[in-house]
Parts: sequence; structure tokens; C-alpha cells
Amino acid sequence: MTPDPRPSPTTIKSCSETRRVLVTGGAGFLGSHLCARLIDAGHRVTCVDNFSTGRRAAVAHLMDHRRFELMDHDVTNPLNVVVDEIYNLACPASPAHYQLDPIQTLKTAVLGAINMLELARLLRVKILQASTSEIYGDPQIHPQTEGYWGNVNPVGPRSCYNEGKRCAETLFYDYHRQYALPIKIIRIFNTYGPGMRPDDGRVVSNFIIQALKGEPITVFGDGTQTRSFCYVDDMVDGMIRLMSSSDSVTGPLNFGNPDEVSILSLAREIVTITGSTSEIVFTRKPIDDPTLRRPDIAAARDQIGWQPAVGMEEGLTRTISYFVTMVAGMRSARVTEA
Ligand code: NAD
Ligand code: UDP
Repeated sequence: MTPDPRPSPTTIKSCSETRRVLVTGGAGFLGSHLCARLIDAGHRVTCVDNFSTGRRAAVAHLMDHRRFELMDHDVTNPLNVVVDEIYNLACPASPAHYQLDPIQTLKTAVLGAINMLELARLLRVKILQASTSEIYGDPQIHPQTEGYWGNVNPVGPRSCYNEGKRCAETLFYDYHRQYALPIKIIRIFNTYGPGMRPDDGRVVSNFIIQALKGEPITVFGDGTQTRSFCYVDDMVDGMIRLMSSSDSVTGPLNFGNPDEVSILSLAREIVTITGSTSEIVFTRKPIDDPTLRRPDIAAARDQIGWQPAVGMEEGLTRTISYFVTMVAGMRSARVTEA
């Protein structure tokens, strides 16, 4: 019989660093990577998700692990678990998804934050909030520093997400001031990588799937709008590093890769790497789509020594390999059905 490579409970107990960690939104893109990394590091992980944009398949490889537990729960309702630290990631992040049910998005951002903060207050544990570069809206300063208060439309189609996340940051700071709760806030800039859903709707996965299928690549607007893309492993490194930093480091901290590209140049790079025959087509630009976005990450570098390590070409190549396998699987499933 092959020996079980997983550490026995005795080994775990003897490791003083082992913690019980709650990850809300743990079946989503970033959450599933975070859960896997925490399990690898020897922690016990409780993954909470309502599977609105997340999938059980994203954590299927962890299901048999004795230190992993999956709970079907909506964070808009209070939660009663005992843990040592909380990562609050639950919230749809793709504009295509968070605009489908904007009221539920806003409830998730705001009520979810309140419920997780109440849990952290009750347990007296650290809590990290996955905030977003969207709190800057369509920024009027460039690159964006944490001191910038943003330029956000309060009544537009993106507002459910932007304003929900802004309100969550306010709640985190109020719990910190009122109850001396240890908090950590990260403002995540566009992050991509293996594990994204093919129907995620965000630009990197859309362009790669279109390129691999030889379909037109849909650039919204003229493609001059910019984003700065961070590879998922770098983002998860940063989250874990921030969580283990001293309580005096509260953030908000920008987390992202300052390498800025236009959306049109991203489309061209994906066509080149995939060797696709797809043509690039230009369609309507969504309302309130930010024109420019690039993080100033000096604060994250100074306060916790974090900066991304994976460049765009390497990150895209790894992500494309993942989608190549997925698209091949989708094709063979269709052949079997026929
Ligand atoms: P995702 O949509 O893949 O994951 C979100 C997860 O939260 C999903 O598993 C979903 O089912 C779950 N969820 C949604 N509403 C819930 C609810 N009410 N109760 C319980 N679970 C719920 O998105 P992601 O890219 O993994 O983003 C994770 C977090 O990081 C989000 O909070 C998002 O705002 C933030 N963020 C991500 C990015 C990025 O580029 N990936 C950028 C900025 C911020
Ligand atoms: N975008 C695009 N084509 C797509 C999807 C997105 O041109 O198929 C553009 C979108 O208009 C935005 C940028 O790519 O300017 C990033 O969009 P995404 O939805 O990934 O994230 P956002 O930063 O807008 O939240």
C-alpha cells in the first residue's frame, strides 16, 4: 500500500504554527488557490462558499484532506465557527457576474463584511478583507496610491461592487477603531491565472478562450484603456505575508503588478503566444469602465517586503497551458456526447 503523504494529526499538533483558518469565497478563483496554499503550509482550512461564482470542482482536490472542510453558506447570514484567523474573499469579482444580481453583490460586500467582522470580534482574531482597485473608480491620479480617495459613480452599474467594497473598508476601520480588532485590508488589482472559469467574463480568460477557439477577440472600446495584471501566485503570497505581519500593519495596501498594458496590446500578446488566427474586433465599451489603472505598490514593498515576481509573458504562458487543457477537455466531452 502506498503510504499516505499527508501529515498525521499528531504531526499537525506538534507544529506550533498550525492555525485554523477561515476562507470565505474559498471555492472561487483566488480563494481556491489560497486554500490550497494554506493546506500545503500545514494549516486547517474551513472554506465557506455559496457557489454563486465558485465551484466545488475548484477545491475537489482538497476534499479528502483531513485538514480541509467545505461549508455551503451565504455570508449575508451570520456564521458560527471557531478559527484563529479569517480571510474574507466572498464576493463575485467579474463585472459580468457582479452586475447580474447587483443587490445580492452589495449585500455580500456589506452584510458579509459585518457578519465576518462580528465573528472576528467574538473570537478576537485577525481578519483580512479582499478589497479592490475598483474603490478608486475611474482614477484621476496615476498610478494610484492608497492615499487617493477615488472617483466613483455612486449610481452606475459598477456601483454595487465599488460602493459595496468601499463600505466594507469603512466597516473594517470602524471595527478596528471601536473594538481594537486587528484588521488587514488589501486592494487587489486585476489578477489572473490557472483556475479561472472559462465563463468568468474577465478579460484575460475571455481573450485566451477566444484565441484558442479561433473566435474573434472582443476588445471593448478602442482598447486604449489600461490595466496592470498580477499573476495569482504572487497575489496569494502577498495575502499570506500580510496576514502574518504585525498587527500595526492594517493597510489598506495596494496589491498588484505595476506593469501596465493597454487592453489592445494584451489582445495582441495573447494572439502571439497562442499562435491564434483570431481577428481582433472592437465592440462597445461598458459604462464607467476605468480608463487607466496601475498600482503604486511602494507601501506593500516598504511595510511587508512584498512585490510580484511573475512577469506577464510567463504568467500568460502558464494560464494559456491551463486553458489549452480545459478547451481540449470541452471538445472531447462534446465528441463523446455526439
Ligand atoms: P470569484 O468570483 O472567482 O470568487 C468569489 C467567491 O465568493 C466565489 O466562490 C463565490 O461563489 C463566493 N461568494 C460570492 N458571494 C458569496 C456569498 N454571499 N456567500 C458566500 N460565498 C460567496 O472572484 P475572485 O477573483 O476569486 O475574487 C475573490 C475576492 O477578491 C473578491 O472579494 C474580489 O472582490 C476580490 N478581488 C479580486 C480581484 C481579481 O482580479 N481576481 C480583483 C480585485 C478584488
Ligand atoms: N474587456 C475587453 N474585452 C472583454 C472583457 C473585458 O476589452 O472580453 C476590457 C474591459 O472593458 C476593461 C478591461 O478589459 O477595460 C478589464 O476588464 P475586466 O472585466 O477583466 O476587469 P475590470 O478591470 O474592468 O474589473
